[in-house]
Amino acid sequence: MSEDVQKLENEKLVLEESLSILKEKLEELTLLNKELLSEREADVNLEYSWSGNLGHWYWNVKTNSVVFNLKKITTLGYSLDEVPEKIPYDFFTNKLHPEDHEPTMNNMREHLKGERAVYEVEYRIKAKNGKYKWFYDRGKVTQRDQEGRPLFLSGIVFDITEQKQKEKKLNSELIRVKQQASIDDLTRIKSRRAILSELDERMLEAGLYKKPLVVAMFDIDLFKNLNDQFGHLAGDDVLRSIARVMNKNFRAIDSIGRYGGEEFIAILPYTTIEEAGKITNRIREKIAETKFIADYPVTISGGIALFDGDSREEFIQRADASLYKAKNEGRNRVVSE
Ligand code: GH3
Ligand code: MG
Ligand code: MG
Repeated sequence: MSEDVQKLENEKLVLEESLSILKEKLEELTLLNKELLSEREADVNLEYSWSGNLGHWYWNVKTNSVVFNLKKITTLGYSLDEVPEKIPYDFFTNKLHPEDHEPTMNNMREHLKGERAVYEVEYRIKAKNGKYKWFYDRGKVTQRDQEGRPLFLSGIVFDITEQKQKEKKLNSELIRVKQQASIDDLTRIKSRRAILSELDERMLEAGLYKKPLVVAMFDIDLFKNLNDQFGHLAGDDVLRSIARVMNKNFRAIDSIGRYGGEEFIAILPYTTIEEAGKITNRIREKIAETKFIADYPVTISGGIALFDGDSREEFIQRADASLYKAKNEGRNRVVSE
Protein backbone atom coordinates (compact mmCIF):
# COMPACT_ATOMS: atom_id res chain seq x y z
CA MET A 1 0.00 0.00 0.00
CA SER A 2 2.63 2.48 1.11
CA GLU A 3 4.69 1.40 -1.88
CA ASP A 4 1.85 2.50 -4.16
CA VAL A 5 1.57 5.79 -2.35
CA GLN A 6 5.28 6.32 -2.73
CA LYS A 7 5.00 5.58 -6.46
CA LEU A 8 2.17 8.05 -6.88
CA GLU A 9 4.10 10.67 -4.92
CA ASN A 10 7.05 10.20 -7.28
CA GLU A 11 4.89 10.49 -10.37
CA LYS A 12 3.36 13.65 -8.98
CA LEU A 13 6.81 15.14 -8.46
CA VAL A 14 7.82 14.30 -12.03
CA LEU A 15 4.60 15.84 -13.37
CA GLU A 16 5.05 18.97 -11.31
CA GLU A 17 8.57 19.32 -12.60
CA SER A 18 7.38 18.93 -16.24
CA LEU A 19 4.66 21.42 -15.60
CA SER A 20 7.05 24.01 -14.30
CA ILE A 21 9.35 23.43 -17.30
CA LEU A 22 6.33 23.87 -19.59
CA LYS A 23 5.33 27.05 -17.78
CA GLU A 24 8.83 28.45 -18.16
CA LYS A 25 8.81 27.52 -21.83
CA LEU A 26 5.41 29.14 -22.28
CA GLU A 27 6.55 32.34 -20.61
CA GLU A 28 9.62 32.40 -22.79
CA LEU A 29 7.56 31.85 -25.94
CA THR A 30 5.03 34.47 -24.91
CA LEU A 31 7.82 36.97 -24.39
CA LEU A 32 9.43 36.04 -27.68
CA ASN A 33 6.09 36.30 -29.46
CA LYS A 34 5.45 39.72 -27.96
CA GLU A 35 8.87 40.84 -29.08
CA LEU A 36 8.35 39.53 -32.62
CA LEU A 37 4.92 41.13 -32.85
CA SER A 38 6.19 44.51 -31.75
CA GLU A 39 9.08 44.28 -34.22
CA ARG A 40 6.59 43.44 -36.99
CA GLU A 41 4.34 46.27 -35.88
CA ALA A 42 7.29 48.69 -35.98
CA ASP A 43 8.15 47.56 -39.51
CA VAL A 44 4.59 48.03 -40.65
CA ASN A 45 4.41 51.45 -39.02
CA LEU A 46 7.46 52.49 -40.99
CA GLU A 47 6.12 51.02 -44.19
CA TYR A 48 2.69 52.66 -43.89
CA SER A 49 3.52 55.71 -41.80
CA TRP A 50 1.41 57.89 -44.12
CA SER A 51 -1.74 55.91 -44.24
CA GLY A 52 -3.81 55.80 -41.06
CA ASN A 53 -2.46 52.32 -40.52
CA LEU A 54 -3.87 50.74 -37.37
CA GLY A 55 -1.57 47.75 -37.35
CA HIS A 56 -1.89 44.04 -37.65
CA TRP A 57 -4.45 41.62 -36.33
CA TYR A 58 -4.15 37.90 -35.77
CA TRP A 59 -7.00 35.48 -35.43
CA ASN A 60 -6.61 32.03 -33.98
CA VAL A 61 -9.62 30.24 -35.47
CA LYS A 62 -9.62 27.28 -33.04
CA THR A 63 -9.58 29.34 -29.86
CA ASN A 64 -11.42 32.20 -31.59
CA SER A 65 -9.04 34.66 -29.98
CA VAL A 66 -8.09 37.80 -31.83
CA VAL A 67 -5.02 39.90 -31.19
CA PHE A 68 -4.95 43.39 -32.63
CA ASN A 69 -3.34 46.72 -32.14
CA LEU A 70 -5.16 48.83 -29.55
CA LYS A 71 -5.01 51.75 -31.98
CA LYS A 72 -8.17 50.29 -33.51
CA ILE A 73 -9.88 50.93 -30.16
CA THR A 74 -8.47 54.40 -29.53
CA THR A 75 -9.21 55.58 -33.04
CA LEU A 76 -12.89 54.89 -32.26
CA GLY A 77 -12.64 57.33 -29.38
CA TYR A 78 -12.41 54.81 -26.53
CA SER A 79 -9.76 55.05 -23.88
CA LEU A 80 -8.17 51.77 -22.94
CA ASP A 81 -9.50 51.79 -19.39
CA GLU A 82 -13.12 51.77 -20.54
CA VAL A 83 -12.87 48.56 -22.56
CA PRO A 84 -12.47 45.04 -21.14
CA GLU A 85 -8.92 43.77 -20.98
CA LYS A 86 -9.69 40.93 -23.37
CA ILE A 87 -11.66 42.62 -26.11
CA PRO A 88 -14.10 40.20 -27.71
CA TYR A 89 -14.37 39.86 -31.48
CA ASP A 90 -17.92 41.20 -31.43
CA PHE A 91 -16.76 44.47 -29.89
CA PHE A 92 -16.25 45.56 -33.51
CA THR A 93 -18.81 43.47 -35.36
CA ASN A 94 -21.59 44.80 -33.10
CA LYS A 95 -20.67 48.32 -34.14
CA LEU A 96 -20.51 47.64 -37.88
CA HIS A 97 -22.72 49.82 -40.05
CA PRO A 98 -25.87 47.79 -40.84
CA GLU A 99 -25.19 48.06 -44.58
CA ASP A 100 -21.64 46.77 -44.18
CA HIS A 101 -22.33 43.87 -41.84
CA GLU A 102 -23.43 41.28 -44.40
CA PRO A 103 -20.83 42.09 -47.10
CA THR A 104 -18.02 42.00 -44.52
CA MET A 105 -19.11 38.68 -43.06
CA ASN A 106 -19.62 37.22 -46.53
CA ASN A 107 -16.19 38.31 -47.63
CA MET A 108 -14.62 36.55 -44.65
CA ARG A 109 -16.76 33.41 -45.12
CA GLU A 110 -15.79 33.22 -48.77
CA HIS A 111 -12.11 33.60 -47.96
CA LEU A 112 -12.27 30.93 -45.25
CA LYS A 113 -13.92 28.57 -47.74
CA GLY A 114 -11.13 29.32 -50.20
CA GLU A 115 -13.46 31.03 -52.70
CA ARG A 116 -11.48 34.26 -52.59
CA ALA A 117 -7.71 34.61 -52.29
CA VAL A 118 -7.78 37.31 -49.62
CA TYR A 119 -10.26 38.79 -47.22
CA GLU A 120 -10.51 42.42 -48.28
CA VAL A 121 -13.25 44.85 -47.27
CA GLU A 122 -14.10 48.44 -46.51
CA TYR A 123 -16.55 48.95 -43.69
CA ARG A 124 -17.83 51.53 -41.25
CA ILE A 125 -17.71 51.14 -37.47
CA LYS A 126 -19.59 53.35 -35.07
CA ALA A 127 -17.20 55.37 -32.92
CA LYS A 128 -17.91 56.30 -29.32
CA ASN A 129 -19.33 59.66 -30.40
CA GLY A 130 -21.92 57.90 -32.57
CA LYS A 131 -20.29 58.84 -35.88
CA TYR A 132 -19.04 56.20 -38.26
CA LYS A 133 -15.41 55.73 -39.19
CA TRP A 134 -14.26 53.98 -42.34
CA PHE A 135 -11.80 51.09 -42.25
CA TYR A 136 -9.96 49.18 -44.92
CA ASP A 137 -9.30 45.66 -43.72
CA ARG A 138 -7.29 43.00 -45.46
CA GLY A 139 -6.19 39.59 -44.29
CA LYS A 140 -5.37 36.05 -45.23
CA VAL A 141 -5.31 32.54 -43.83
CA THR A 142 -1.67 31.87 -42.99
CA GLN A 143 -2.00 28.37 -41.55
CA ARG A 144 -4.31 25.48 -42.38
CA ASP A 145 -4.62 22.00 -40.89
CA GLN A 146 -3.95 18.84 -42.88
CA GLU A 147 -7.50 18.83 -44.23
CA GLY A 148 -7.07 22.42 -45.38
CA ARG A 149 -9.24 23.94 -42.66
CA PRO A 150 -8.07 27.40 -41.63
CA LEU A 151 -6.21 27.58 -38.33
CA PHE A 152 -4.74 31.06 -38.26
CA LEU A 153 -5.28 34.34 -40.06
CA SER A 154 -3.24 37.47 -40.15
CA GLY A 155 -4.27 40.85 -41.46
CA ILE A 156 -3.82 44.57 -41.40
CA VAL A 157 -6.35 47.35 -40.95
CA PHE A 158 -6.31 51.03 -41.97
CA ASP A 159 -8.40 54.00 -40.90
CA ILE A 160 -9.55 55.46 -44.24
CA THR A 161 -12.13 57.90 -42.88
CA GLU A 162 -10.30 60.93 -44.22
CA GLN A 163 -9.90 59.47 -47.73
CA LYS A 164 -13.59 58.53 -47.77
CA GLN A 165 -14.58 62.05 -46.76
CA LYS A 166 -12.41 63.52 -49.50
CA GLU A 167 -13.88 61.04 -51.98
CA LYS A 168 -17.41 62.04 -50.94
CA LYS A 169 -16.61 65.73 -51.33
CA LEU A 170 -15.08 65.15 -54.75
CA ASN A 171 -18.09 63.14 -55.86
CA SER A 172 -20.59 65.80 -54.85
CA GLU A 173 -18.37 68.40 -56.50
CA LEU A 174 -18.38 66.29 -59.65
CA ILE A 175 -22.18 66.02 -59.58
CA ARG A 176 -22.43 69.80 -59.11
CA VAL A 177 -20.09 70.49 -62.02
CA LYS A 178 -21.99 68.04 -64.23
CA GLN A 179 -25.29 69.68 -63.32
CA GLN A 180 -23.81 73.06 -64.03
CA ALA A 181 -22.69 71.92 -67.47
CA SER A 182 -26.15 70.59 -68.24
CA ILE A 183 -28.08 73.75 -67.31
CA ASP A 184 -27.81 77.03 -69.18
CA ASP A 185 -26.66 79.78 -66.83
CA LEU A 186 -28.90 82.53 -68.18
CA THR A 187 -32.20 80.78 -68.90
CA ARG A 188 -31.93 77.82 -66.47
CA ILE A 189 -33.20 75.48 -69.16
CA LYS A 190 -31.06 72.67 -70.59
CA SER A 191 -27.71 73.61 -72.03
CA ARG A 192 -26.80 72.89 -75.64
CA ARG A 193 -24.67 69.94 -74.52
CA ALA A 194 -27.48 68.43 -72.41
CA ILE A 195 -30.24 68.85 -74.99
CA LEU A 196 -28.09 67.42 -77.78
CA SER A 197 -27.18 64.38 -75.77
CA GLU A 198 -30.88 63.91 -75.02
CA LEU A 199 -31.61 64.21 -78.71
CA ASP A 200 -29.09 61.41 -79.39
CA GLU A 201 -30.96 59.16 -76.98
CA ARG A 202 -34.36 60.03 -78.45
CA MET A 203 -33.10 59.37 -81.98
CA LEU A 204 -31.84 55.96 -80.91
CA GLU A 205 -35.17 55.19 -79.28
CA ALA A 206 -37.20 56.43 -82.28
CA GLY A 207 -35.12 54.27 -84.63
CA LEU A 208 -35.44 51.24 -82.38
CA TYR A 209 -39.18 51.39 -81.74
CA LYS A 210 -40.15 53.06 -85.03
CA LYS A 211 -41.84 55.96 -83.26
CA PRO A 212 -42.14 59.44 -84.74
CA LEU A 213 -39.81 62.09 -83.35
CA VAL A 214 -39.79 65.81 -84.13
CA VAL A 215 -37.11 68.40 -83.52
CA ALA A 216 -37.97 72.12 -83.50
CA MET A 217 -35.58 75.06 -83.87
CA PHE A 218 -36.67 78.52 -82.72
CA ASP A 219 -35.07 81.90 -83.15
CA ILE A 220 -36.21 85.23 -81.72
CA ASP A 221 -37.32 87.64 -84.43
CA LEU A 222 -35.29 90.82 -84.92
CA PHE A 223 -33.71 90.39 -81.51
CA LYS A 224 -30.85 92.64 -82.44
CA ASN A 225 -33.29 95.57 -82.69
CA LEU A 226 -34.60 94.84 -79.20
CA ASN A 227 -31.07 94.80 -77.81
CA ASP A 228 -30.23 98.03 -79.62
CA GLN A 229 -33.32 99.76 -78.34
CA PHE A 230 -33.49 98.53 -74.73
CA GLY A 231 -30.01 97.34 -73.99
CA HIS A 232 -28.40 93.95 -73.59
CA LEU A 233 -29.63 93.43 -70.03
CA ALA A 234 -33.25 93.93 -71.05
CA GLY A 235 -32.51 91.49 -73.90
CA ASP A 236 -31.29 88.97 -71.34
CA ASP A 237 -34.52 89.38 -69.38
CA VAL A 238 -36.55 88.69 -72.52
CA LEU A 239 -34.47 85.58 -73.24
CA ARG A 240 -35.14 84.33 -69.72
CA SER A 241 -38.88 85.05 -70.00
CA ILE A 242 -39.19 83.36 -73.38
CA ALA A 243 -37.49 80.26 -71.95
CA ARG A 244 -39.99 80.32 -69.08
CA VAL A 245 -43.01 80.61 -71.40
CA MET A 246 -41.70 77.72 -73.51
CA ASN A 247 -41.02 75.60 -70.46
CA LYS A 248 -44.54 76.18 -69.21
CA ASN A 249 -46.29 75.48 -72.49
CA PHE A 250 -44.53 72.46 -73.90
CA ARG A 251 -45.85 69.05 -72.81
CA ALA A 252 -44.17 67.20 -69.94
CA ILE A 253 -42.65 64.70 -72.35
CA ASP A 254 -41.03 67.43 -74.49
CA SER A 255 -37.62 68.90 -73.74
CA ILE A 256 -36.27 72.31 -74.52
CA GLY A 257 -32.76 73.69 -74.47
CA ARG A 258 -30.82 76.79 -75.38
CA TYR A 259 -29.09 76.00 -78.64
CA GLY A 260 -27.09 79.21 -78.89
CA GLY A 261 -27.46 82.97 -78.35
CA GLU A 262 -31.17 83.57 -79.00
CA GLU A 263 -31.92 80.18 -80.48
CA PHE A 264 -33.82 77.37 -78.79
CA ILE A 265 -34.26 73.74 -79.65
CA ALA A 266 -37.17 71.50 -78.64
CA ILE A 267 -37.48 67.72 -78.78
CA LEU A 268 -40.97 66.27 -79.23
CA PRO A 269 -40.89 62.50 -78.85
CA TYR A 270 -43.71 60.18 -80.02
CA THR A 271 -45.12 63.08 -82.04
CA THR A 272 -46.12 63.33 -85.69
CA ILE A 273 -45.15 66.39 -87.70
CA GLU A 274 -48.82 67.52 -87.74
CA GLU A 275 -49.12 67.34 -83.94
CA ALA A 276 -45.75 69.05 -83.58
CA GLY A 277 -46.96 71.83 -85.90
CA LYS A 278 -49.97 72.45 -83.64
CA ILE A 279 -47.94 72.38 -80.42
CA THR A 280 -45.18 74.66 -81.67
CA ASN A 281 -47.64 77.12 -83.18
CA ARG A 282 -49.51 77.27 -79.89
CA ILE A 283 -46.26 78.19 -78.17
CA ARG A 284 -45.37 80.72 -80.84
CA GLU A 285 -48.77 82.37 -80.33
CA LYS A 286 -48.34 82.33 -76.57
CA ILE A 287 -45.07 84.23 -76.94
CA ALA A 288 -46.52 86.71 -79.41
CA GLU A 289 -49.33 87.42 -76.91
CA THR A 290 -47.03 87.88 -73.93
CA LYS A 291 -45.92 91.41 -73.08
CA PHE A 292 -42.21 91.18 -72.38
CA ILE A 293 -41.19 94.82 -72.67
CA ALA A 294 -43.90 97.52 -72.60
CA ASP A 295 -45.74 97.37 -75.93
CA TYR A 296 -42.74 96.20 -77.90
CA PRO A 297 -43.71 93.14 -79.98
CA VAL A 298 -41.62 90.05 -79.34
CA THR A 299 -42.12 87.09 -81.62
CA ILE A 300 -40.29 83.92 -82.54
CA SER A 301 -39.99 81.87 -85.69
CA GLY A 302 -39.67 78.11 -85.78
CA GLY A 303 -38.78 75.26 -88.09
CA ILE A 304 -39.69 71.62 -87.49
CA ALA A 305 -38.47 68.36 -88.98
CA LEU A 306 -39.45 64.70 -88.58
CA PHE A 307 -36.72 62.19 -87.83
CA ASP A 308 -36.07 59.89 -90.77
CA GLY A 309 -33.02 57.96 -89.59
CA ASP A 310 -30.50 60.61 -90.58
CA SER A 311 -27.62 61.85 -88.46
CA ARG A 312 -28.13 64.40 -85.69
CA GLU A 313 -26.46 67.11 -87.76
CA GLU A 314 -28.67 66.42 -90.78
CA PHE A 315 -31.78 66.22 -88.60
CA ILE A 316 -31.10 69.62 -87.01
CA GLN A 317 -30.05 71.04 -90.36
CA ARG A 318 -33.47 70.16 -91.82
CA ALA A 319 -35.27 71.93 -88.94
CA ASP A 320 -32.92 74.89 -89.42
CA ALA A 321 -33.75 75.05 -93.13
CA SER A 322 -37.46 75.27 -92.22
CA LEU A 323 -36.66 78.01 -89.72
CA TYR A 324 -34.83 79.91 -92.43
CA LYS A 325 -37.95 79.65 -94.57
CA ALA A 326 -40.10 80.97 -91.71
CA LYS A 327 -37.84 84.00 -91.48
CA ASN A 328 -38.02 84.56 -95.23
CA GLU A 329 -41.78 84.19 -95.31
CA GLY A 330 -42.17 87.04 -92.84
CA ARG A 331 -41.30 85.71 -89.34
CA ASN A 332 -43.64 84.91 -86.40
CA ARG A 333 -44.53 81.52 -87.88
CA VAL A 334 -43.53 77.87 -87.74
CA VAL A 335 -42.67 76.09 -90.98
CA SER A 336 -42.47 72.33 -91.38
CA GLU A 337 -40.52 70.79 -94.20
P1 GH3 B 1 -33.72 87.48 -87.14
O1 GH3 B 1 -35.16 87.71 -86.98
O2 GH3 B 1 -33.30 87.36 -88.53
O3 GH3 B 1 -33.26 86.34 -86.30
O4 GH3 B 1 -33.03 88.80 -86.57
P2 GH3 B 1 -32.09 88.92 -85.32
O5 GH3 B 1 -31.85 90.38 -85.09
O6 GH3 B 1 -32.66 88.19 -84.22
O7 GH3 B 1 -30.83 88.16 -85.84
P3 GH3 B 1 -29.31 88.37 -85.69
O8 GH3 B 1 -28.64 87.07 -85.85
O9 GH3 B 1 -28.86 89.48 -86.62
O10 GH3 B 1 -29.10 88.86 -84.23
C1 GH3 B 1 -29.21 88.02 -83.12
C2 GH3 B 1 -28.99 88.86 -81.90
O11 GH3 B 1 -29.17 88.16 -80.71
C3 GH3 B 1 -27.61 89.45 -81.87
C4 GH3 B 1 -27.15 89.26 -80.46
O12 GH3 B 1 -26.69 90.42 -79.87
C5 GH3 B 1 -28.39 88.78 -79.76
N1 GH3 B 1 -28.04 87.87 -78.70
C6 GH3 B 1 -27.52 86.64 -78.81
N2 GH3 B 1 -27.31 86.09 -77.60
C7 GH3 B 1 -27.75 87.01 -76.68
C8 GH3 B 1 -27.78 87.03 -75.25
O13 GH3 B 1 -27.39 86.10 -74.57
N3 GH3 B 1 -28.31 88.15 -74.66
C9 GH3 B 1 -28.75 89.18 -75.38
N4 GH3 B 1 -29.26 90.22 -74.73
N5 GH3 B 1 -28.70 89.19 -76.74
C10 GH3 B 1 -28.21 88.13 -77.39
MG1 MG C 1 -30.11 83.82 -84.52
MG1 MG D 1 -33.00 86.14 -84.32
